[in-house]
Amino acid sequence: MSGQAPLRLEVARERMLAGLQPLAAEAVAVGEALGRVLAEDAMARVTLPPWDNSAMDGYAVRAADVVGASPGTPVRLRVVGESAAGHAPTERVLAGTAVRVLTGAMLPDGADAVVPVEDTDARQGVADLPADVGIQRAVEPGAHVRRRASDLLEGDRLAQVGQRLTPASMAVLAAGGLGTLVVHRRPRVAILGTGDELVPPGEPLGPAQIPDSNSIAMAALARAAGAEVLGLGVAKDRRDEVIERLQAGIAGADLVVASGGVSVGAHDEVKEAFDVVGRMDLWRVAIQPGKPLAFGRATAPDGRAVLLFGLPGNPVSSFVTFELFVRPVIRRLAGHADPVGRRIVRARLAEPVTKSAGRRAFLRVRLRPYPRDPSVAIAELAGGQGSHVLSALARSNGLAIIPEEVDALPAGSVVDVLRIDEESS
Ligand code: AMP
Ligand code: MG
Repeated sequence: MSGQAPLRLEVARERMLAGLQPLAAEAVAVGEALGRVLAEDAMARVTLPPWDNSAMDGYAVRAADVVGASPGTPVRLRVVGESAAGHAPTERVLAGTAVRVLTGAMLPDGADAVVPVEDTDARQGVADLPADVGIQRAVEPGAHVRRRASDLLEGDRLAQVGQRLTPASMAVLAAGGLGTLVVHRRPRVAILGTGDELVPPGEPLGPAQIPDSNSIAMAALARAAGAEVLGLGVAKDRRDEVIERLQAGIAGADLVVASGGVSVGAHDEVKEAFDVVGRMDLWRVAIQPGKPLAFGRATAPDGRAVLLFGLPGNPVSSFVTFELFVRPVIRRLAGHADPVGRRIVRARLAEPVTKSAGRRAFLRVRLRPYPRDPSVAIAELAGGQGSHVLSALARSNGLAIIPEEVDALPAGSVVDVLRIDEESS
């Protein structure tokens, strides 16, 4: 396999996504569904508002009764009752009468408009119902009335299969009377670090040691993509230890994501370990950073298919390859209609760039608006482009895509930039 040329990005991604189906559906309480993806269309079970109601605190009237009302010539109406939120009114509004209404309360029968309390002579915020009220402004029929069904109608499709649930979509589904939603199970992603040099973040560094940042980044990326995380810790650069931890991941997760140990170094054990716990499918993709990416498949003891990712150890390489390959796989398993779910924008390079021949480069850039042409942003390099430079990654909000066949581009060139800071669906 090492003799083969690196694969094009799309070819590699298609092989990873091949045959993948969204995970099984399950019912969850609407309040617990943030970030889940609907496995069924969700229809409104109630009509909202269920009845005409008041948009203001005020008095429900017949508009015809208050024609010509003004502060100088108020129209006096007898107050026959009150309609408060949560209590159906018992009185009708007949000619010459009004019912005090509170915001959101049912509009009483007979009334066709609401006069806000500010346009009356009633004292505001007083609990006792006045005997009568002076209306100081005329209103059109329908004024300050929220019509029945002006938001939702029972049976309306409120959200569709493949849609990820956001705070706003959860709110509309709860309002539509859905207490539980049918969503896909979250993918479980096991995260493994490899390397004799790694210590947990925050611990003092001995000679030749560095903090394990990849495990933190991979777990956070997995959660941000909608997955649950199983931490496998860090394996030393020993094949038996890598195999043992991969097997634990295979038993408990849908995907195992290892970082480090996939290159051609003397201590790179992950590819060989994949062939022991499952089988390697592909190795090396023609991208920069991230070329030595490995991918394989395994079968869990309970028969589930498990995907194996061996991401390069360099922190920027593992981050970018997670974005390009692991995230789409998680999203496909989670049920998203679009596995990539990112926007690509056009931007003008602020400085010249160079890259390796034959590989598609993903440069860490910072986008800012270009005042003279709002349709094209300016892309500044976010810092050093070495695959170890996490500080530049952390400053970036996009990956500028430089095609395989280009070796260098002058400042001012217009390129595509993958927005990694926002989700398109
Ligand atoms: P490797 O592919 O294992 O040779 O790793 C390539 C580079 O990435 C080396 O400089 C490693 O020290 C570094 N590296 C590997 N794993 C991690 C990790 N979990 N956290 C931070 N750096 C890492
Ligand atoms: Mg290593």
